Amino acid sequence: MLVDLHSHSTCSDGLLSPADLVERAVQRGVDMLALTDHDELAGLAAARDTAARWGLQLIDGVEVSVLWEDTTLHIVGLRIDAGHAPLVAGLADIRKGRAQRARRIADSLEAAGISGSLEGARRHARNPELVSRAHFARYLVEAGHARDTNAVFRNFLTPGKPGYVSHQWATLPDAVNWINGSGGVAVIAHPGRYPLNQQQCERLLSEFVELGGAAIEVVTGAHAPDEFVTWARYARRFGLRASAGSDFHGPGEGYRDLGNVPVLPAGCDPVWTDF
Ligand code: AMP
Ligand code: MN
Ligand code: MN
Ligand code: MN
Repeated sequence: MLVDLHSHSTCSDGLLSPADLVERAVQRGVDMLALTDHDELAGLAAARDTAARWGLQLIDGVEVSVLWEDTTLHIVGLRIDAGHAPLVAGLADIRKGRAQRARRIADSLEAAGISGSLEGARRHARNPELVSRAHFARYLVEAGHARDTNAVFRNFLTPGKPGYVSHQWATLPDAVNWINGSGGVAVIAHPGRYPLNQQQCERLLSEFVELGGAAIEVVTGAHAPDEFVTWARYARRFGLRASAGSDFHGPGEGYRDLGNVPVLPAGCDPVWTDF
């Protein structure tokens, strides 16, 4: 069975509509797909309808932006209830903050001599409430400041570079409580991508377990294959289950296509066995 528990649509910073995303997953042989848009649930209804038509198992998901000890983390919620009021309200607050952050990103780029980026990023964003750094990155490519979006993130939009601003996202307890309160399971997305030393990483995992977090992504498009084993070991050590997903954003973007999700290393407890 082919499982992909992390993907994005045009409701956040993906390039395909929810329906097109699900159809691509079907074409690529995915049996179980989670749509996990950043801070947004608006794509789930259409994804569910299309999935039902094709016999694909759609998992209602979300990727919540969190600030933990000065580090931005992403917490994926799987099998969430899209009608759970605290989750819906919490995500709406995060989206409001994104609009303000987008202005500060544009000001920072302006100071580096790059103009028009707020309008440019907004043009790329299909959901006006959800302007992401990925939209700024697409504008910077379009305006000739980098060859592709990967190159953008080497020179812009990341800590220490023009266009990076720190931001107050949700807290870790809020994110886990919204997800768990809605009947879902909380998963730390791409744990290998955060600028945390080993000590901070262990503190994060203990705190996450304490709060009721369920799993970490062991296999993700953001991990190199040799990192799968490292995170499988962390999962076992902290009694966490393992998740797997491509983090697909669109054809030609990122490292893995939908369903290009290698099997978990031996000894992992897959988070989806009872889905
Ligand atoms: P945001 O949530 O607005 O801060 O944007 C985060 C998004 O930017 C991620 O989900 C990716 O889509 C994109 N992104 C961040 N860092 C990178 C990177 N190094 N390479 C490619 N895309 C990135
Ligand atoms: Mn993204
Ligand atoms: Mn992420
Ligand atoms: Mn993602």
